[in-house]
Amino acid sequence: MADPTAPVPPDARPGPGVLDARAAALDAADPLRERRAAFVLDDTVYLDGNSLGALPRAVPVRLAEVVAREWGELRIRSWTESGWWTAPERVGDRIAPLVGSGPGRVVVGDSTSVNLFKALVGAVRTVPDDRDEILVDAATFPTDGYIAASAARLTGRTLRPVPAAGIAAAAGPRTAVALVNHVDYRTGTLHDLPGITAAVHAAGAPVVWDLCHSAGALPVELDAHGVDFAVGCTYKYLNGGPGAPAFLALRADRLAAFDSPLPGWNSHADPFAMAAHHTPATGAARGRVGTPDILSLLALDAALDVWDGVDIGAVRTKSLALTDFFLDCVAAELPPGTVESVTPADHARRGSQIALRHPDAATVMDRLIAAGVVGDFRPPDVLRFGFTPLYTSFADTLRAARTLRRVVGETASA
Ligand SMILES: *Cc1c(COP(=O)(O)O)cnc(C)c1O
Repeated sequence: MADPTAPVPPDARPGPGVLDARAAALDAADPLRERRAAFVLDDTVYLDGNSLGALPRAVPVRLAEVVAREWGELRIRSWTESGWWTAPERVGDRIAPLVGSGPGRVVVGDSTSVNLFKALVGAVRTVPDDRDEILVDAATFPTDGYIAASAARLTGRTLRPVPAAGIAAAAGPRTAVALVNHVDYRTGTLHDLPGITAAVHAAGAPVVWDLCHSAGALPVELDAHGVDFAVGCTYKYLNGGPGAPAFLALRADRLAAFDSPLPGWNSHADPFAMAAHHTPATGAARGRVGTPDILSLLALDAALDVWDGVDIGAVRTKSLALTDFFLDCVAAELPPGTVESVTPADHARRGSQIALRHPDAATVMDRLIAAGVVGDFRPPDVLRFGFTPLYTSFADTLRAARTLRRVVGETASA
């Protein structure tokens, strides 16, 4: 009997039911399939978890308790008795294993944009003045580029945009720091973190990695590769909720020497001494600024329960299987040439999303969403589908491709 999990050969369109059988077999063999029950989901095929992760069931329960008991009854006592004061470091320690960092070096708070600013200026403050260029991934998510430009102005450096694949070659004696996105938000390309980090280090400069599209989607080995600084969102693959606070991860020596450009009172060694001058805290608190956003932080804390007992390696295996299967379904279901994938076919260069170009991408995505398949549109012509292995099934994936076929057909004939 034919193996239902085998990929579709490029020249053969599968007969009726073949993809359904494959989806069913892949779902039956999926070691993560039970995790879906930990989320609030409905009949929608939700392929936008790379923009806003779905709601974990534990969150509303925990938040209700935080509001009623910790805020409502304990009030100010909760800063100590409920552990609010140390939550940024405690939640950071829960994220650390997901990004390959050790304990005590990840802090949660502020937005990714603000953490980028801290990391970039902090990095530039460690290098001599003749290192006068900040290298930035030319296709970066816009906020990274805007913040890097401001950091360059403030520190008297020049911003030099370079395609991510060229950063290793561009790094040299003038490099102050390089800022690279681990996964390109538009195309889903996974950049070479080990190789680029090693090349920037060989040029004598630190590197800042933006993990917004890789944290929670694939193994990130910050310490194994000696990454100096990393930042990332928690509301995408970490499901922390809208605007959930971001994280900042520092290598041990970088943390010990970290000269934050935003040294608020929360990063003081003894905040309640209310001292006139700033003495930086030792440990991850050094990356803090002001009073943490406790409700969002504790929502994130509860959301992280979905990772208990999950092997990030298994998440990666399923992510690649889902994206492979989606590409197979698209190739089998859509007339040839209707859409073009801009996500690398090579697993070593693929994040956890598939980006398809279509000339009417904005209209197609509006109609897809109306038809119950939620992805998103990125200008000028990209349909973006994020695959979140904790709650996306192979059956969802097939349904998304079939709905896409129907919607693209309707868009063409309209
Ligand atoms: C989502 C995303 C951000 C978002 O930054 P915020 O400060 O949270 O708005 C930044 N960088 C990248 C690469 C992203 O994908």
